[in-house]
Amino acid sequence: MSIGGNLDQVRSRIKQAAVEGGLPPDQARLIAVSKTLPVEDIETALQAGHRLFGENRVQEAQTKFPALKAAFDDLELHLIGPLQSNKARDAVALFDVIQTVDRPKIAHALAKEIKQQGRSVRLFIQVNVGQEPQKAGIAPKELGEFVKLCRDTCGLDIVGLMCIPPVEAEPSPFFVLLNQLAKAHHIDQLSMGMSADFETAVQFGAHYVRVGTAIFGARP
Ligand SMILES: *Cc1c(COP(=O)(O)O)cnc(C)c1O
Repeated sequence: MSIGGNLDQVRSRIKQAAVEGGLPPDQARLIAVSKTLPVEDIETALQAGHRLFGENRVQEAQTKFPALKAAFDDLELHLIGPLQSNKARDAVALFDVIQTVDRPKIAHALAKEIKQQGRSVRLFIQVNVGQEPQKAGIAPKELGEFVKLCRDTCGLDIVGLMCIPPVEAEPSPFFVLLNQLAKAHHIDQLSMGMSADFETAVQFGAHYVRVGTAIFGARP
């Protein structure tokens, strides 16, 4: 199957999942995750009409996206991988959405850069829903305090929550948890679901699903 064909197929599966879950067909937007892939694959997706992409690493995205963004001014780029504070400047300059705000140091660094560059970047907090020691994200029980720091102390525009559930586990309880946390903290948008579980995520209220393999095939 081609990248264009895969995009069509994933989009229709998202719609169908939403409708089956009693949600509007356009409930969730599809982020095409292009990490590790060559620019040619991203161009193919752009030519098929896709405009929303996700990358894991600031440095890699800097080698691929500035030219593409210049050519397609409605291209929207999300950072979905861990951010180091020394990359905050570059991340704010390049990305439209940063989904991985997860600690005070990053919140302060982003606040400084957003102010300095005068760019509006939408921000998501990453939550470590499975409380896994090796995984990034703020612990669920620390979220309230962190949201307060981001909003009140740093003046950041927190619009969403993002999670990556534990690999081996049934994801539904983690999607439910993220949904409940968002409601409890008055946060509107949810980024959850990947190739293996995006339909489930949509049914539990995802607004963004992040899909790589099901669109581009196995990564090199
Ligand atoms: C790589 C990645 C994805 C996409 O994973 P697939 O299983 O290839 O769909 C989604 N989210 C994050 C944070 C990722 O790092």
